[in-house]
Amino acid sequence: MKMQLDPDEEWGHFIDPETFKIYQITEEIPDGSLVVLKEREYIEDLDRTIIQTSYGIVEGIKYQPLNKRDISKHMSKACAEYILKENSLPPKIVVEKKLQLDKPAKLGFVMSNYDTFHLQLDKSLLGGSNPIEIINPILEQAASEPDSDDDDLKWKAEYAKSSRATCKSCGLKIEKNTVRIGEPHYYQDHLNYRWNHEKCIFWKRLSLANVKGLDELEETDRNRIEKLLK
Ligand SMILES: [Zn+2]
Repeated sequence: MKMQLDPDEEWGHFIDPETFKIYQITEEIPDGSLVVLKEREYIEDLDRTIIQTSYGIVEGIKYQPLNKRDISKHMSKACAEYILKENSLPPKIVVEKKLQLDKPAKLGFVMSNYDTFHLQLDKSLLGGSNPIEIINPILEQAASEPDSDDDDLKWKAEYAKSSRATCKSCGLKIEKNTVRIGEPHYYQDHLNYRWNHEKCIFWKRLSLANVKGLDELEETDRNRIEKLLK
């Protein structure tokens, strides 16, 4: 379907549930797409402009508005289908909580710094299999893959340059000069990092080969992190 957006006030993206790729809304939005719309709104009482986010799904020629919980359910289902089909995690999907036997997997779809969706994959979405039994081998495989040549795809360890960044895992500030671990992501073709506290990282996802910057840390910090990566 086509969606008319007022270019001065509105913009948005849609997610292809089969590939988890994100597209800017320009014209045609394919059936089944998950839509995230942004709208600038001026609040007179505050004399401030804020950005409102709304969600929906394209069903045939209809646009069905959804709340964030419902769109996350759609995403959970799409994510489970992707995992079963591709035997890998979709792009921008992170494991938010340690996987536990007989518990739903808690994953996050980190669309941008401002939009993270919390997904929950239980047995019923994974064809009756335990989430941990499906997802753990995928994580282990990813961690054992040979050194990527592309430095830009590596995570980065460094000392926080200021105390301004917040941890993408727990939401709390990362103190200046403490070790922070960044996940690379691209925003409009710029390489950026989503920073996390060292203690908030799910280390099982990472290996020595896909973290850079360790050489520049002090020895005690480097040794500690190398141990976590083994
Ligand atoms: Zn944290």
